[in-house]
Amino acid sequence: MESPKRYTITAALPYTNGPIHIGHLAGVYVPSDIYARFLRMQGKDVAFVCGSDEHGVPITIKAKKEGVSPQDIVDKYNAIIKSSFEDFGISFNNYSRTSAEVHHKTASEFFKKLYDSGKFTEETTQQLYDAEAGQFLADRFVVGTCPKCGYEESYGDQCEKCGTSHNATDLLNPKSAITGATPTLKETKHWFLPLDQYEGWLKEWILEGHKKDWKPNVYGQVKSWIDDGLRPRAVTRDLDWGIPVPVEGADGKVLYVWFDAPIGYISSTKEWAEKTGKDWEPYWKDKDTKLIHFIGKDNIVFHCIIFPVMLKAEGSYILPENVPANEFLNLEGNKLSTSKNWAVWLHEYLEEFPGQQDVLRYALTANAPETKDNDFTWKDFQARNNNELVAIFGNFINRVVVLTNKYYDGIVPAPGENSEVDKEVLAELKAYPAVIASSIERYRFREAQAELMNVARLGNKYLADEEPWKLIKTDEERVKTIMYVALQIASALATLSEPFLPFTAEKLKRMLNYGKASSEATIEENRHDEWQEITEKEELLPAGHQIGKAELLFSKIEDEQIQKQLDKLEATKAANKAENQKAEPQKEIATFEDFTKMDLRVGTIVEAEKMPKANKLLVLKVDTGIDVRTIVSGIAQSFKPEDIIGKKVTVLVNLAPRKLRGVESEGMILMTENKEGKLVFINPDEDGVKEGTVIS
Ligand SMILES: [Zn+2]
Repeated sequence: MESPKRYTITAALPYTNGPIHIGHLAGVYVPSDIYARFLRMQGKDVAFVCGSDEHGVPITIKAKKEGVSPQDIVDKYNAIIKSSFEDFGISFNNYSRTSAEVHHKTASEFFKKLYDSGKFTEETTQQLYDAEAGQFLADRFVVGTCPKCGYEESYGDQCEKCGTSHNATDLLNPKSAITGATPTLKETKHWFLPLDQYEGWLKEWILEGHKKDWKPNVYGQVKSWIDDGLRPRAVTRDLDWGIPVPVEGADGKVLYVWFDAPIGYISSTKEWAEKTGKDWEPYWKDKDTKLIHFIGKDNIVFHCIIFPVMLKAEGSYILPENVPANEFLNLEGNKLSTSKNWAVWLHEYLEEFPGQQDVLRYALTANAPETKDNDFTWKDFQARNNNELVAIFGNFINRVVVLTNKYYDGIVPAPGENSEVDKEVLAELKAYPAVIASSIERYRFREAQAELMNVARLGNKYLADEEPWKLIKTDEERVKTIMYVALQIASALATLSEPFLPFTAEKLKRMLNYGKASSEATIEENRHDEWQEITEKEELLPAGHQIGKAELLFSKIEDEQIQKQLDKLEATKAANKAENQKAEPQKEIATFEDFTKMDLRVGTIVEAEKMPKANKLLVLKVDTGIDVRTIVSGIAQSFKPEDIIGKKVTVLVNLAPRKLRGVESEGMILMTENKEGKLVFINPDEDGVKEGTVIS
């Protein structure tokens, strides 16, 4: 679509069973926000919508676990998620909830229209049923082996390993997630969306129509599903949490969460239109509207196949122009996980790095998993801040603003004749808006941001080469021109950085007393084309313009701050390990006679030293009450010799002697492990227990 009249931009509805983390931000919300901000700055008509996804099985499971109602769960996380988005400047025109009345109504009507026009098939089928819990098992209520890839922990609706979506009855070895029981089959009636009937249309629309403009990772996944053959998908569930199925004979049934969730984009647009006095329909029904879905790769099937089929079946809606799904972001080499707490939570980040939202936005975009899974590391985060934002962007701006204040009391000087270098630099500057725009329009946000940083590099290099701080002593006239040129670059940066670094852009615009700050109020405003101005306008800051005082845009992040984050992750790892430590299964039965063969005594360590050239072994002298004997023990990594002298221990004294590194060991000291994996003594430390006492 060459020049659409308006844009409808959707960002995946976050699921309200937990807060959001950097993976969500990197995968969906920062890229969609860059895109929306960029379009608004060009004066485009944009509806950027999102909302909380509050239905579905995982929420009911979490509520059950915590002994609260599903409503309690969604209220709690909706509030946390919403404020995280506000904190990080994600500039939605509207953020709604699927529990909102407007959504229930919209989703019901959507279903009813498809139902009335015969778009569903109705089937009474055998579904998995947990007799113990007295309920049908769909989606995440059932876990089993994926029929496609063999992954043993696949959910009933989708395999997290290979991404395939399937029906719960397709799983091999299904188990109830509620009781662990093997489900039985029970008859129930459901409505199905016959995806198979749309195969031909999907082939034409996506496989032929979007071969060139859709990302290869998205196109490839869609193609493989279509090639495998599509099957009817149930769009209703036997469940008591969700939107009731609005037809007769459907008591106890709700819409499948993946049927109602994408309709949430439409309801959110309606809610926004109502608030702002607009008409929602053109944003979803006018063919001159460009609809873009920003999602993570786990949602591709729903946004590229199921939702488009729903829209197509309904008949009056437009289809997405593009679905620029991202791959996954990992954290320090491991998959982000809410349940394992392996994440950087946004609300926690802001406690540790207050006011540094843009640093995280920058690092996440620089590392965005646009074409493959990518890794977030704290070291990289620190380097991006210190070596790029501080050393290049911040340094350039600081020099410009400080010198302008120092030499000219903050008033933009009148330039003399431009040198060849000035001309080149200004020409280069004027080319950047188109370069950055071209990357953003192709959803290449890392590339776009790298070009933005090149603008700062251009300015930094210009000042370093021209050295106005030296020239001021010999050629004051020339310095005026240099500072004038540098100020033009600084103001271009204030505009070009806004989609990526909105908080920085706002600060910079205030400092330069230039343009309109990207505050919340501007979201609904019709702006003029500030982007194009950089290329077209003769000058951005005219001579005589008064700028403000210098403020620091970025500050250095110290090693200790990074170490603290790494320590936090190490602690999470240790806690997960402790949690996952399962008791070993019981050994074979031993008879009483077997046990009485073991001669266990209380002993005291009287001497201890390291075994030379062995890093695990200590050579101990132990008073067993019978004698003082040598025991070699593999505990050197848990204890220093001097710390264990005098320690009471449990000794197996009649273990056959054996030589370790040439030292004969006569017995064994009993040990166990604590949750950090450190060895600890089985310690008979009651008062008055003497060496040689038999343990039985
Ligand atoms: Zn699978």
